[in-house]
This record gives sequence, C-alpha cells and structure tokens, in this order.
Amino acid sequence: MSTDPSMAAPVRLEPVRRFLNTLDVESGTDAITDTAGLATWLTGADLWHGDALVTEEELRHARDLRGALRAAATANHDKAALPAPVRSVLDAAAERAGVRIRFTPDRGWRATTGVDGVDGALGELVLRVVGSMTDGTWPRLRICARDACRWAFYDSSRSGTGKWCSMQLCGNRAKQEAWRGRRRETG
Ligand SMILES: [Zn+2]
Repeated sequence: MSTDPSMAAPVRLEPVRRFLNTLDVESGTDAITDTAGLATWLTGADLWHGDALVTEEELRHARDLRGALRAAATANHDKAALPAPVRSVLDAAAERAGVRIRFTPDRGWRATTGVDGVDGALGELVLRVVGSMTDGTWPRLRICARDACRWAFYDSSRSGTGKWCSMQLCGNRAKQEAWRGRRRETG
C-alpha cells in the first residue's frame, strides 16, 4: 500500500476507491469486519447519517459488494469480461438501492437511489461507478498487480496501462521478484 496522493481517483470515483481499500491486504486490516465498522466507515465517507444500527445482513451485502467491485477493478487491467457472479452482486446492489432515473429541466437526466439507509448508501457507490463508466474513467480504477499489495489505485498515467499502485514501490518490487524467480528457474 502506498499513500501517494497521485493515485487518487477523480472526485466522483474517489469514495469508491476508498471503499475498495477498506480491505488493506498488505497490513492485513479490514475496516468493515463488523456492523459498527461499516457504520463508522459510511458515516466518515459522508454516505450515511443514520442512527439506526447496521444489520448483519447489510454488512454481508456491503462485503459482497466490495468483493465484486474489487473483482471488477481487477478485470480493468486487461479488459477482462466481468464474471456473472460479479455482475449479479452489482445488479442486486442497484436493485436494493431502488436506483431510478429522473429527468432534469436541462434536458438531461440523473440516476438516484430510491431508498435511505445502508442500501441507499451502498447504492450511491454503485451510482458513482455507473457515472464513472459513463464518463470513461472507470477502466483506470485498478487493483495493484503485486499480490502482497492489491491496493486500489487510479491509473493517471498517460498510457493508461499502469499495473501497480506505485511504480517506485510495487512496480520495482514486482520486477525484482520476477527476476529472482527467473534466476531460480535457470540456476
Ligand atoms: Zn501496490
């Protein structure tokens, strides 16, 4: 994991990137292992201001959604197809949030969530993904390709082919590991 600010996503997508990073593989921590953790995170992210308790079922839903979005961000590396189980979790999240289209006076439209609570808050994250897919920024949200890291980062490189959250840290380490692996094989 790197705290390099250059890996931040555009404003619309940044809360999604942070949601994916509630799981920190490198340090082995997870901010949403229990209902209180999820409530704290959603409140801190300004997505939810409920005073009701988060249920175990909502926690499961949040963790499923995070897993699906992490898988989707991993698929962004090589434009891989989204597996059906990932799509059904995303579809279900939109459904639970009562996502709907509202037309606006400026001859446009916007998508909104139709429910409050945790489902609505998670639906807001899904809508941000949808917005990002629409404006073309989504393919640049990725999971770091170094297995020990897997930090979600936004690839702002010109080529748009970044594999690691940080070339200095993970990129070099991954290359060293590959080099050592090759040396083991040949020697
Ligand atoms: Zn990394």
